This record gives sequence, C-alpha cells and structure tokens, in this order.
Amino acid sequence: MPENSTSPQHVRTRFAPSPTGFIHLGNIRSALYPWAFARSRQGDFILRIEDTDLERSTQAAVDVILEGMAWLGLDHDEGPYYQMQRMARYKQVLAELQAAGHVYPCYMSVAELDALRERQMAAKQKPRYDGTWRPEPGKTLPPMPEGVLPVLRFRNPQDGVVAWDDKVKGRIEIRNDELDDLVIARPDGTPTYNFCVVVDDIDMRITHVIRGDDHVNNTPRQINIFRALGHEPPVYAHLPTVLNEQGEKMSKRNGAKPVTQYRDEGFLPDAMVNYLARLGWSHGDDEIFSRAQFLEWFDLDHLGRSAAQFDEAKLRWVNAQHLKAMDDAALAPLVAAQLKARGIEADERLPAICGLFKDRCDTTVALADWARAFYADVQPQPEDLAKHVTDTVKPAIATLAGKLAGVEWRADAIAAAIKETLAAHGLKMPQLAMPVRVLVMGTPQTPSLDAVLALCQREKVLARLSRA
Ligand code: GLU
Repeated sequence: MPENSTSPQHVRTRFAPSPTGFIHLGNIRSALYPWAFARSRQGDFILRIEDTDLERSTQAAVDVILEGMAWLGLDHDEGPYYQMQRMARYKQVLAELQAAGHVYPCYMSVAELDALRERQMAAKQKPRYDGTWRPEPGKTLPPMPEGVLPVLRFRNPQDGVVAWDDKVKGRIEIRNDELDDLVIARPDGTPTYNFCVVVDDIDMRITHVIRGDDHVNNTPRQINIFRALGHEPPVYAHLPTVLNEQGEKMSKRNGAKPVTQYRDEGFLPDAMVNYLARLGWSHGDDEIFSRAQFLEWFDLDHLGRSAAQFDEAKLRWVNAQHLKAMDDAALAPLVAAQLKARGIEADERLPAICGLFKDRCDTTVALADWARAFYADVQPQPEDLAKHVTDTVKPAIATLAGKLAGVEWRADAIAAAIKETLAAHGLKMPQLAMPVRVLVMGTPQTPSLDAVLALCQREKVLARLSRA
C-alpha cells in the first residue's frame, strides 16, 4: 500500500464490491456514499475488488463496476486492488496471528460438524462450533486424526461484548459468547472472507466502513480480528437495503438492471447521483441538487434507517429536471452519442435542437428520438396524415412551400411566411401548423413551428412538404 502520512482525521473510505453479478443501483449506492464522504472531507476513496469467490467472479462483472463508476464520476484515489493478488499478504498476517496464539488448528470433519449441528438443533440450541479443538490451559485436546488437513479457527474472546456506534443503526452490542470461533483459513491454507476484509481495511488504513447492512453480522467478528491484530476498528455505517418496485430486495435475480444500462437508456450521471443520494439520505426537503451541492451537504448523520424503495418514475422525473437545467452545449455530445448508436451523425445544429426539445424529454434517448427527425427521414403515421393533411389545407401548404423556397432561412423570416400564408388562405395557426408538423417532423405536437423549421434544412422541409 502507498505510505502517505495521514493524520487521524484524514478520512479514507472504500468500496469493496464482489464481482459476482452485474452491479445494480442498490450496489452502486454503497459506492456513492463512501465516495461522497471521502470527497466532502478531502479524504481518499479506495476501490477494492473482492474476487476471492473464484467460481462466481467474472471479468465482465469487474468491467461493469469500473465502467459504471467511471460513468457516474465516482473516481477512486487508489486501486482497484484485487484480493486475489493479495493472497501472500493475507497468509503472512495469518502466520503472525497464529504465532501470537490467536489462531488454532481444528480437525473436526464435516461429518462431525454436521452431527454437532444436528444435536444442537435437536436440543433447540443455536448451531455453533463447540470449541473441541480450542486449546486451553490444562485441557487435553482429542487425538489428532491421521492425514486430515485442519482448518484454522480464530480464538474469539469468550467474555464481554463487542460494541460499536453504527452511524446508521446506533449502538450495537453483541455478547462474545454468542460468537463461535470463526474459520479463517481453509484446509488448503487459503484465508476466508472476513479475515481478508480486516487485513485489507487495516492495510488500506480505512477510517470509515460504509457498506450494506447485509454485513452487519460480520462486523462483531471483524472487530475482534482487528483487535487481535492490534488495531482499533474503523467507524461503521451499515446502509439499509434498497428494495425494488415490488418491495423485494433489489437483486439481478429479480430483474435489477446493471448500472451501465441506465447510461444506455439516456440517464445523466448527475441525475443518477442525485437520485441515488436521496435513496437513503436526505438534506431537508431538497429533491433536486447538483453534485457539488450533494458533496457540500453529505454527512453520515442523515443516513436513513429504513429500507429505501426504488421508483423508476421518480428517477425519470429527477433525470428530466437535470436535463432541463443542463447546458445545451453539454447535452449535445450525450445526444450525439445516442444518435451515433443509431447510425446518425449529428452536426452543429444539435445544441439548438437540444435547447428546443429538452423541456419535453426525460432522457437523452427521448431527446435523440426528436433530434432524429432533423437528420434522418420521417415516416408520418397514415392516421395523422389523413386527419391533418386534408384537401382543404393542401393549397395553403403549397403556398407556404413556395414562400419558404425564397425566404432567408431564419425563424423570424419563416414566421412571417407562415403568417402571410394564413392570411392568404383565411386559416388559423393550428389548421396550418398541425399538417406542416406532421409532414416535416412526423408528429402534430412540436415546439414553436418557426423554430423547428429553422433548425431543419430548407431542402428537407421543402421535400417533406411536397409529399402533401
Ligand atoms: N464484498 C462485499 C459485497 O460485495 C462488501 C464487503 C464490505 O464492504 O466489507 O457485499
């Protein structure tokens, strides 16, 4: 690990995902808060990939983590560290722990453990390891079986309590006699999960562990390992679960999308950060805020205690607010990327097109749907043509086309041509505007007609009007 000089107040947080499935919004919120806490305290944010589950970890899942975090702007100062690359270090610390007498070999076979569990269940006791191989002064251990490789167990303290002041859940106290001696190394010598986490959190000098509350049961065990290694544990904040729209724990098994899919569906990183921030944290009644405001306001004292429920309609609304507030020049490249995915090259008109349509869109995909009409052919619906482009209005459309062929191509000149046409044919604005919109944009509902036509090229407008 890099050796910076750190004062006790120097905040260091981490996000430690397991790449065993595509990271979804519920997971990424556990990255957002430690990131925000580090950024708002001028601290460091560390990314650590917990890839020791070799069967379930995949590179594709790592890629979604890295891509998703980069997209959301959750930049890390150190890492990504990969636990699989730190095995030698874990084994070294394990040896130290063993030398200090905190670890002992246990030769109990799986069959014996099963039998023990059954006896305990029959006696209505909590299944737990009974300490058979735990050395004690004056105790005679069973004879060592031949040819059996032992697991290593951590000698958990037997008296007192493990307690911590959780930033979300308040004070939690667990009696040590409720914790049995945890296996911290398998028969082949590989260290187990809880041990690796503690070694990492020590080596990475983590000051605040902010993670999902599915880990709250691991915390007392981890705290005891911290102390056995001569370290005080960090501050803990265990975040409540994120539920999906059906009220179940969000998981990819019940349809949660990978984070990167929201990018592809046209959501803005700042809107996602805003929405996710509110999913478990609040600042008064503020619903819409910028990334900078969030970082200014974020603290661990206003984390919500109850499970938060994902609401796609609200996410869309938050996205629409950010879209509206966003600078057209900043929006254009995002919409250009959406157009490019459809094989359309945008041009310098795109910022103005964004400006004209962003109020009626909730994603950059919806914006690209509009922008498309300025670059690619439109196919008006036969019903719209039948309804709006009637024989009565066709002569007026021809008059307008004639005028548009000669005007200077600017909104005010176009507006004047429309007005003259209306006067010449005794029509009201909607009678002409609706059919022209259907022909030119493929739909009767658009922003102000002169502005729309001005952004469409003259040749395109004339060609489309000539289909009347
Ligand atoms: N790797 C764990 C997970 O993905 C997180 C462990 C931790 O934050 O301590 O759930």
